[in-house]
Amino acid sequence: PEKRVKLVIGNWKMHGNRAVNAALLDALVAAGKHLPAQVRVGVCVPFPYLGQAQSALECGPVAWGVQDLSGNAADKGAFTGEVSATMAVDFGATLALAGHSERRNLCGETDGHVVDKARCALEWGLTPVVCVGETLEDREAGRTEDVIGTQLAALLEAFDVAALRQMVFAYEPVWAIGTGKSASAQQAQDVHAFLRARLREKDASLAGISLLYGGSVKPGNAAELFGQPDIDGGLIGGAALVADDFIAICHAAG
Ligand code: PEP
Repeated sequence: PEKRVKLVIGNWKMHGNRAVNAALLDALVAAGKHLPAQVRVGVCVPFPYLGQAQSALECGPVAWGVQDLSGNAADKGAFTGEVSATMAVDFGATLALAGHSERRNLCGETDGHVVDKARCALEWGLTPVVCVGETLEDREAGRTEDVIGTQLAALLEAFDVAALRQMVFAYEPVWAIGTGKSASAQQAQDVHAFLRARLREKDASLAGISLLYGGSVKPGNAAELFGQPDIDGGLIGGAALVADDFIAICHAAG
């Protein structure tokens, strides 16, 4: 099978302050040289702390990035409150989440916005980490593949194969995010296999895209999830705020 990049990305969400971040970043720096070499590790921090992440991480293997960015323009413009891709790159970011379910649900982001954000990220060489996922209501109504297929289709229609190959997708069932209730390894694998099949239908080379699972990943369930054939790593929320847990999860991907 295709050789796929393994990835573990922490999503700090709206947590932290300079002192708490410093301790967490120090722990990541200390762990850095022992992290499995074949796993790409990164953290997506709140915008005000990008400079802090850069200062702490720039000499080590851990990457950093943003949890969102403007889809209006990749560089600058009259977009009050927005942060552009070029600003993130100015602080050394290499990763940009797009379409996290909290952005979709709390901020009204649509598939169209997600496409715009991914386009802006790519313009400046950021890796878009595009999140897709179904609600509990969707799952119980048997609509999981419909919902995720539609979210993915927006990207597949908007971008050519070369652009899509620069992306990472994260499957994050909304009912598993921050709930302590992870999808089972089989549930996650089934959706990952579906996503990979859709990618392969567009172009055989897209089967090599890394697909991450997110939703209540913990040290205790990470190895089983990451051991599934179509799961290439994780997007980690709560557990990414606890250095030992995040580092253990990174090792589980190795
Ligand atoms: C997330 O926010 O992307 C996430 C997966 O959160 P948690 O790990 O806390 O469920």
